[in-house]
Amino acid sequence: MSVIIDGKEVSAKVQENVKAEIKNCMIRPSVAVIQVGDNPASNSYISNKEKVCGAVGIYFRLYKFDDGTPELTIINKIKELNNDEYVNGIMVQLPLPPQYNEKRLLNTISNAKDVDGLTDINTGRFINGKKTLIPCTALAVMRVLEEYGIDVAGKDVVIVGRSRLVGRPLATLMLNNNATVTTCHSATTNLKEHTKRADILVVATGVPKLITEDMVKDGAVVIDVGINRVDGKLCGDVDFAKVEKKASYITPVPGGIGPMTVAMLLENILLCYNAKNSK
Ligand code: NDP
Repeated sequence: MSVIIDGKEVSAKVQENVKAEIKNCMIRPSVAVIQVGDNPASNSYISNKEKVCGAVGIYFRLYKFDDGTPELTIINKIKELNNDEYVNGIMVQLPLPPQYNEKRLLNTISNAKDVDGLTDINTGRFINGKKTLIPCTALAVMRVLEEYGIDVAGKDVVIVGRSRLVGRPLATLMLNNNATVTTCHSATTNLKEHTKRADILVVATGVPKLITEDMVKDGAVVIDVGINRVDGKLCGDVDFAKVEKKASYITPVPGGIGPMTVAMLLENILLCYNAKNSK
């Protein structure tokens, strides 16, 4: 039987710390979210972010555009928010409807307000070891490991998924912390050969129950980033019920990395706020 990592509990701790810090802020920190279209999953993520921001004292603004709004209108809104001194963080909710140029919109965000850590400049700074904003989900994985006293140094870490949002930044963070990192993806041949070797296995693919018990080493730490809806119920990328019996630690879905990602967003908003207000 494994230890089930309680992402909600760690997230609540982070939220308390952020709330305490905000109490000392002269001006209330604020974040602006740009949403295009009406994707139900995005609506749910955004309302959760709004709720958590409100609970810690971060002012939350949502700018929701109809699918079909000219891209230039959205770009102009982002530029306006870049110049608004009362906005500390800006995020574009992904995924965007396919006709929009995701990179162009993300790169319009001021690097100093890029709370998702997704502009090309911030990505480059991160890869080059400079201080910058880092994508929240990658931070969330590192923070739960740290909170549970799981050291990654010298460990074989296998990450399944290589997205800019999760897999790639996480691989960099793991390397920075002296893990030996393998990153797998859809073109990896014999995935099991890799996952079986992992001391720490992180899965972020969006493929429900991709990881079965035969793919996991006894005693491995298993971090499931995936959020999938199957038959109206949320599940991860790991077959939790079976893998739980083999793992030493495992994150549930929901209640694992999801709440931690929002917690890391709060910290990134505070980082932006403090960088601006300490000048
Ligand atoms: P992407 O679709 O951007 O990336 C998925 C990655 O998984 C790709 O690198 C893809 O490979 C790889 N992949 C897909 N199928 C397989 C397969 N059969 N075998 C091996 N690799 C595969 O997704 P995201 O990274 O944005 O998100 C991944 C999951 O994490 C989703 O379920 C998402 O909802 C969830 N998520 C959860 C968050 C949280 O807070 N918990 C935050 C962000 C995401 P390739 O590159 O070759 O296409």
